[in-house]
This record gives sequence, C-alpha cells and structure tokens, in this order.
Amino acid sequence: MNNPSNAVQPSSIELPPEADAAVAIVRKLVDAGHTALLAGGCVRDLLLGHPPQDYDVATSARPEQIVQLFRNTRLVGAQFGVVLVRKRRRWVEVATFRWDGPYLDGRRPSKVVFSDAREDALRRDFTVNGMFFDPLAGQVIDYVGGQPDLRAGVIRAIGEPSARFEEDHLRLLRAVRFAARLNFPIEPRTFAALREHAPQLTKVAVERVRDELERMLSHANRAKAFDLLHQAGLLPFLWPKATWSEQQVAAAKALLARLPAEARFEPAFAVLVLDRPVPDIHNIARALTFSNDEREDVAWLVEHQRDLDDPASIPLSKLKRLMAHRALGDLRQLALARWAGDPAAAAWPYALQARLAAIPPEAVQPPPLVTGDDLTASGIPPGPVYKEVLDALYTRQLDLELLTRDAALAAMDDLLRERGLLK
Ligand code: ATP
Ligand code: MG
Repeated sequence: MNNPSNAVQPSSIELPPEADAAVAIVRKLVDAGHTALLAGGCVRDLLLGHPPQDYDVATSARPEQIVQLFRNTRLVGAQFGVVLVRKRRRWVEVATFRWDGPYLDGRRPSKVVFSDAREDALRRDFTVNGMFFDPLAGQVIDYVGGQPDLRAGVIRAIGEPSARFEEDHLRLLRAVRFAARLNFPIEPRTFAALREHAPQLTKVAVERVRDELERMLSHANRAKAFDLLHQAGLLPFLWPKATWSEQQVAAAKALLARLPAEARFEPAFAVLVLDRPVPDIHNIARALTFSNDEREDVAWLVEHQRDLDDPASIPLSKLKRLMAHRALGDLRQLALARWAGDPAAAAWPYALQARLAAIPPEAVQPPPLVTGDDLTASGIPPGPVYKEVLDALYTRQLDLELLTRDAALAAMDDLLRERGLLK
C-alpha cells in the first residue's frame, strides 16, 4: 500500500474550469523543478464526481520558494508551510509536503518537518482524504488506500486509529462529518477508537466544535450526523454539562430527518435544544461562541416553536409579529417538520400557507396609528403605562380592529380612562 510504484494509478478525472488556477500553480512549480500535486479533499470529491469546494496544492517547494515564484502571495502559516497564492482571481492554498511532529495536548503539532508526498499523505486524517492527483500526468497518487475505501464507501483513519484520535481530537468530529456528508459508514476499528476517545472532545477549542457542528447541521444529511454523534458517544461532550435522555435523542433525530435539505444551522441546532429552558439555551450558545444573531434566533425558535400550531386560529396580530421576525422561515420549517409526524396536523401546512399569503408585506409592520407623543400630548406622565397602552393599541391595529388614527385615539382615551388617568 505504501509502495510508490503501485501508489500511482491512471485516472479518468476530468478537471472542471474551477481547477484552472490550481493547475496553473502546479505547472509553474513543476517547471521550476519541484513536485506539485492537487491534494486532499478536492481529489476525493473529483473521484466521487462531486464539485470540490476548493483545490489545494501540495508541493516539495519550501514556503520561501513558493513566495519567490509567484507575484501575489500571502503567508498564512509559514510554520506549517502554508502559503496562499493568488492566481486567476482565486486564492489557492499551497502547502509544503510535511510531517507533523508530536502533538501537544491533542490540539496541534509541536513542530512540522518538511518532507515528501508519501509522508504528507500519512499525516492526513482519513484514507479518502489522503490522496493526491497529478493534473499534468492525469494520475492519482494514493499511498494510503484511499481509492479502494472510496469505492467501498468507508471512512477509515490513516494508520492506527486510536493514535490518530489521540494526537488530534478534532478528528473525532471530522470523522462524523465526512461519514454523514458522504453517507459512508465508519470502518469498525476507526469507529471503536472514535468511541474510546469521545470524552476528549471537551479538549477541542469550542470555536472548532461550533464550526464542525455548523457544517454537519447545515448539511442535508444532518440526521445521519446526529445519529453518528450519538452512536459514537460524542453528544455528552458537545457543550459543558450536556445531558441527553434516550427520548431526547430519538425526538431530535426524527425531527432533523424531517427538516428540508436546505435548512439553516439555526433551526437544526434548535432541534437539539427544543425542550431545554431558554436561559440554558443562551448559556449553551454562549459556551459554543455562537454569534448574537445565531444565539437569539435559536432561542426565539425554541420559545416560539408552537406558535404556528393550529394556523387557522392564530390571531392576526400574533401572526404578523412572527412574520416580522427574520427567523420566521426557520420557524415554519421547524413547524412543518414537527407536524409531519402528527396526523392531527395534516391540514396545517396548507392553512398556514393560506394565512401567510393573505397578509401583504406592508401590513406586517405598519407604522403605529398612535405613539408616545399622543400620550404626552394628553398629559400622561412617563411610566410603564406608555408601553402597556401602546402595545395594546398596536395589537388591535394589527388585528385590524383599529383602522384609523381617530379610532385609535378614541381607543387610547378609553384605555386611559379605565386606568383612571383621564377624566
Ligand atoms: P471540505 O470539502 O469540507 O473542505 P476537505 O477534505 O478539503 O473537506 P479540509 O478541512 O479543507 O477538508 O482539509 C484539507 C485536507 O487536509 C483534508 O482533506 C485532509 O487531508 C487534511 N486535514 C485537514 N484537517 C486535518 C486534521 N485535523 N488531521 C489530519 N489531516 C487533516
Ligand atoms: Mg477543503
């Protein structure tokens, strides 16, 4: 398997135009006497016939040689041998073949040693991620058995699985992400090591956990990812003091499977915390370094998860207030996913659609007919009564009970009289 003579295999990969920049970089490096290859994820995706997100180049050239060879470069991790090269209006990651030194604390290598393509393949995480493609010769270079694993459809750690998870705990989540995304099972020894090392997830930087979670949960195969997190024993370590009952796990999995493929991260994450107290959700989101918008949307989705139920009887004012929120689309996806399991809700999607379609955009948040200025003009001293009265009037305006300013002013006087604030 590690013999270079059978590592090189002809291939029928046809490169799309998006690969042009990376191929031009490879050609220039080769012309200068270096080895240069497309590497990692793009080779996997090309062999699968999926469009790669980006094309990474791996080369024998040292960072200083790469920088000299190209006009526009940026050093992103010189110590790791990574240089960004600008070519044909794209930035391409060009990394020197390397071997990672001993890992510190399961997070990052203490040093990297520049080496050759074979060693660079062996430091990579999973066999399907460990291949190279020589675009000039049209050959796949596979030192790790990536091609057979890709054909069979398995995620297998390169080398000794336990050692590979021990040296970099982020690979725990990467294994799950690739298995879910590609819909590949995880090879049994790799999976056993994954389970064994699951508690070490707590040592991974939260930003990276968040990142991996976001990528898993934004993908159509999110239910599979969640199931794998569960099977691998990773769920209790996703955030501090995470607890899961079997019931919560089963409910979340079923609901994730019913979200539409294109659902965003926020409703998918909301599914994971649907029955948890809202203050806890804010804490979880903070612990995972969500942005404020993400955190607020997840909490809002949980708080309002039942507000769209029985759509025919939702008060107009309430529906308009929900429509005014940026996450209404997410809330609707969540509601539809929940209703899909409930025969009593069979007609609700249509009823909701009809209700929403009946409300023109300009009716969602009309300017209020009366404002605080009107209360001031009536001599009402500032206080909590302002918000109370204005909210009540605005609700009636949204419900189309108050259609004109005169009607609203009369209603305002009534409310003030009821409170003894007006004679
Ligand atoms: P994606 O399509 O999601 O970007 P990818 O395979 O390109 O998938 P990247 O995170 O972009 O993944 O990493 C590029 C390559 O670097 C991987 O294919 C893999 O070979 C290697 N790699 C990345 N992260 C690790 C890691 N933590 N341990 C070992 N190798 C890694
Ligand atoms: Mg990538």
